[in-house]
Amino acid sequence: MSTREDVLLQNLKDVHVSLEQACKRAGRSPKEVTLLAVTKYAADEDVQILLKTGQITDIGESRLQQAQARWQQNPAFARWNKIRKHFIGHLQKNKAAKVAQFFDFVDSLDNLETAVLLAKHVPAGKTLRVLVQVKLTDKKTQSGLPLQEARRLVRQIKAQHFANLCLCGYMGIAPQGVTVQTLRTLFRSIKEAFEEDFPDKKERYLSLGMSEDFIVAVEEGSSLPRIGSKLFAKNLEEV
Ligand SMILES: *Cc1c(COP(=O)(O)O)cnc(C)c1O
Repeated sequence: MSTREDVLLQNLKDVHVSLEQACKRAGRSPKEVTLLAVTKYAADEDVQILLKTGQITDIGESRLQQAQARWQQNPAFARWNKIRKHFIGHLQKNKAAKVAQFFDFVDSLDNLETAVLLAKHVPAGKTLRVLVQVKLTDKKTQSGLPLQEARRLVRQIKAQHFANLCLCGYMGIAPQGVTVQTLRTLFRSIKEAFEEDFPDKKERYLSLGMSEDFIVAVEEGSSLPRIGSKLFAKNLEEV
């Protein structure tokens, strides 16, 4: 009978092994890839178990209030204040000020107005990292911009020379239930744009891949796969 801790540690190990193998197949160094642990559905106790391994550097949350309750207001999380926090959800303009103050990254930027708002509210001395979200499906409900519009937004943001925003890559969510070949084609198109739009930048991120498709995403060049359910399978029965 394994404990919840056993399950979570095994999940983390499995994810690391999969990442390493994907890197190897693609001739990449595992050092190029950072695991973004998506904690939005996870219980506090489960998140703590993974943090205690010392192997988690980056986490993703998609709701401001929930993120603040956990990472700012819960004393049990105070010692983890060095973890880099990514906002990965749809960003409403009325939340931009608080998001700029609280998060280290906004991975889901999709309009110039919000960039202006973020820049206006980044606290003195801080640099907010931002990725532009590319839409890889035709679904209306999916946020992000079609690739050509995303690239236009990148040019617009660069032209503004925001002093406290570091524009450093693209994020994309692939459609579910498509073939591996379709996934590869989608991931390659965004990787190509990434190489053209963020050439030899010291710090840059291509955030592709979630629990269901991160292996293909890393084979195709993702440097920041976002993994939730593979790490935090909801309960023992599911494993
Ligand atoms: C929830 C979420 C994830 C994680 O999804 P899993 O399939 O649970 O790994 C990744 N990226 C974004 C933008 C999300 O909202």
